[in-house]
Amino acid sequence: MKTILSYIRPKVPIMSVQLFIKFLGTVLELLLPWMLSTILDDFVPAGETSKIYLWGIMMIVCAALALASNVIANKMATSISKDITLRLRQDLFTKVTQLSASQEDFFTTPSLISRLTTDTYNVHQMIDRMQRLGIRAPILLLGGITITMFLEPVLTMVLVATLPLLACVVWFVSHYGIQLYTQAQAALDQLIRKAQESMTGIRVIQALSKVDYERNQFDTANRQVVVRERRASLLMNITNPVMNLLLNTGLTFVVIVGAFRVNQGITEPGTIIAFLSYFTIILNALMMVSRLFVMYSKGAASGRRIAQVLTAPAEMLQEKQLACDLTANPHIEFDHVSFSYTKVQETVSDIHFSLNQGETLGIIGPTGSGKSTILSLLLRFYDPDQGTIKINGQNLKAYSPDQLHQKFGVVFQNDFLYNDSIGENIRFGRPISQEEIEFASRIAQAGFIWEREDGFASEVASRGSNLSGGQKQRVLLARAMAGHPEILLLDDSSSALDYKTDADLRRALGTHFAHTTKIIISQRVSSIQNADKILVLENGSMVGYGTHDQLMDSCKSYQEIAQIQMGAVE
Ligand code: ADP
Repeated sequence: MKTILSYIRPKVPIMSVQLFIKFLGTVLELLLPWMLSTILDDFVPAGETSKIYLWGIMMIVCAALALASNVIANKMATSISKDITLRLRQDLFTKVTQLSASQEDFFTTPSLISRLTTDTYNVHQMIDRMQRLGIRAPILLLGGITITMFLEPVLTMVLVATLPLLACVVWFVSHYGIQLYTQAQAALDQLIRKAQESMTGIRVIQALSKVDYERNQFDTANRQVVVRERRASLLMNITNPVMNLLLNTGLTFVVIVGAFRVNQGITEPGTIIAFLSYFTIILNALMMVSRLFVMYSKGAASGRRIAQVLTAPAEMLQEKQLACDLTANPHIEFDHVSFSYTKVQETVSDIHFSLNQGETLGIIGPTGSGKSTILSLLLRFYDPDQGTIKINGQNLKAYSPDQLHQKFGVVFQNDFLYNDSIGENIRFGRPISQEEIEFASRIAQAGFIWEREDGFASEVASRGSNLSGGQKQRVLLARAMAGHPEILLLDDSSSALDYKTDADLRRALGTHFAHTTKIIISQRVSSIQNADKILVLENGSMVGYGTHDQLMDSCKSYQEIAQIQMGAVE
């Protein structure tokens, strides 16, 4: 809650004004039954018409003022909680983008999404409700009891006698309400996870005719949410009738005891009427308090989930830079690097290679052998468990994230395109001129863009669904090259290109990006055979390292891959 409080703190002055207005409105509202009882008991029997009119007008004015202050205070509450949530959500989003890859693995994407959406909404609701009811409910409750004490101490005892029962109901509702709402929230997390997975894999699901299977899975998650929500709201719905039963029983006793007292001339009928109004006000206040408890618990649980992310420590800390020549070779150096995602079994072991500026490294090996992991380590998404990675002789850890990431142009395996124009997808928010975009697109063999009616202005659908696999890869390649990076990392990014286009791409890269150091992961020997060095990976270990010819002589795994593929080409 400390983290959430730090967002509320700057709003305390304006919140105080809002609470004061709410306080005034509530006090005015509390005065109404008392004024009515005074008119009925004092002025009506005495026939003081002018006083009846005056107090009647005062009652109208008080009611109008109470209404106005309630409306103003509620509007202020909405705007305050909106502002707080806006900042909270923005900071949370920024933090999510700064999480280290292992922290992202830890929180999981669906959970981060639900923290950004439903959890911030719950916190918003909590802050909003707290401002609306937080001061109103206690004032109505305590003020109501105090006024009734003065009005009719004996009847107040009837009221006080029902309070423990009402308190039990409030406790029961808030206690079980929290549990049930927490369970409902967990079910919602699962629903988001399922929806996200299905959306991401929708093409595969359709292709493999797994729509029914997915629908059933979604149905299960959906039903779970409904069942848990229903359970929680059932509890809330039972509350009202139970509270009403208690209220009406209490009221019956008040009327019976009150009737005796009026009969005996101890009390006035107006007092009883006022008392009944206060009784209803007090009961409503109790209901508000119970709702507040549930709202608070829901908001506090969500606040904790948000704070977990916001307070996650910065993991990829920058170390001190060594004084060294930042243009020195080797450009990239892996010095006996080992790494494990789970810290149980090593994903990559003892990786060592070095590349001079402008050289190309090809990485080949079966799926899951750790090829992409090497790129993740070079981008410092994860730190190695053993060994060091250097760029220009400087440990990767000594670069700031910006310094480091500016060096790279990257195409990942499952890279994404935005719903925007092709040009903007390539520019990617960087200050890159149209000429550079067109140049990069030519190198990326993306001639199809010029053939489109709107050229670079033509729209790309979300996730590039209106482009073919090969076209998508070319736009992504153009994006990676448009920034003229120092290092180009291509993870299986020409797999959807035909052999001729792939060869044209490599030739253009060699000519126009001669000074760029390139690491190319590919399943095709033809894509990497001209690389200066080739690294063959198997189960995370280097089983071969050298040029194509050297590996054809010495590396059995490479020979096998090459023979199968060359055979296929022939
Ligand atoms: P490749 O690129 O050769 O197909 P990867 O480097 O993507 O292989 O993956 C190597 C191994 O690491 C695989 O067994 C994969 O399941 C595992 N792996 C990849 N990413 C993660 C991750 N974020 N958390 C845990 N394991 C992972």
